[in-house]
Amino acid sequence: MRKPFVAAALCGLFLASTAQAAEPPAILVSIKPLHGLVASVMKGVAEPGLIVSGTASPHGYAFKPSDARALEKARLVIWVGKDFETWLERPVGRASENLAMEDIAGMIRLPTREGGAWEAHDHGHEHEDHHDHADHDEIDGHLWLDPDNAGRLVDAVAARLAAIDPDRAGTYAANAAATRRRLAEVDGQLAAQLAPLAGRPYVVFHDAHQYFEKRYGLTPAGAVTVDPERPPGARRMAILRDRLKAAGASCVFREPRFAGPTVTALAEAAGARIAQLDPEGALVDPGPDAYFVLVKGIAAALVDCLSAH
Ligand SMILES: [Zn+2]
Repeated sequence: MRKPFVAAALCGLFLASTAQAAEPPAILVSIKPLHGLVASVMKGVAEPGLIVSGTASPHGYAFKPSDARALEKARLVIWVGKDFETWLERPVGRASENLAMEDIAGMIRLPTREGGAWEAHDHGHEHEDHHDHADHDEIDGHLWLDPDNAGRLVDAVAARLAAIDPDRAGTYAANAAATRRRLAEVDGQLAAQLAPLAGRPYVVFHDAHQYFEKRYGLTPAGAVTVDPERPPGARRMAILRDRLKAAGASCVFREPRFAGPTVTALAEAAGARIAQLDPEGALVDPGPDAYFVLVKGIAAALVDCLSAH
């Protein structure tokens, strides 16, 4: 006799709670690493939308009509900013509101690395190394790879969501605090795990990891290409091979969807090992854990390859 009563009571409660709270605001996030952090702040409320999903690259993304419709419906669009998602700079103006990570107060912002091993300064006829976001001197947009920056985004997102959706401000604040605790914990783990890698040079496919490298005292020797959408030419490859040898780099890291054969050829020519880094989360499932899976994956790949002898 009690069961129907309990069910009826629960049903009543459910109806009362859904009747009271308005629909959660539609939030749209540009790329997976940021989406993971926003999903963590919105945990238990709703899942934010994601523009660059699956293994698509955030560099040179082809903004689709379906993306434009999602953007017009969104109450808030969260992105790195015009220095990173250059393809979103114009469309974002049609969104009712946007939050650019690069504009948040206190954000650590590093200039795009140029010169040295980072860019071939041969003024020959090979211009394949020119990059969208290296053409006008601006900041390196891979801001999320410093966990302190991730924490600043989390706080800014919680504050903005609270302003848009005050009924759930408490939930956003509690989720943000939990996310920050988790960030601090993972940051400590990574620092301990990566400390022994100082002084062990390696080469990456594209220069995405500057924030991560500076935070954890890593010693990269250079990047294969400035533009992940365009593999390097033969001349650049020869320069890189020599640099790799000179630096004594023992690992060359490819990326999930970029230039496998290029990296393999380079590593073989220089006698280095090949491994993979996924700085933009191409292989990471979206959701509240995505950011943590992403940074832990980078650390594990570095440790794995650079600790081997
Ligand atoms: Zn990148």
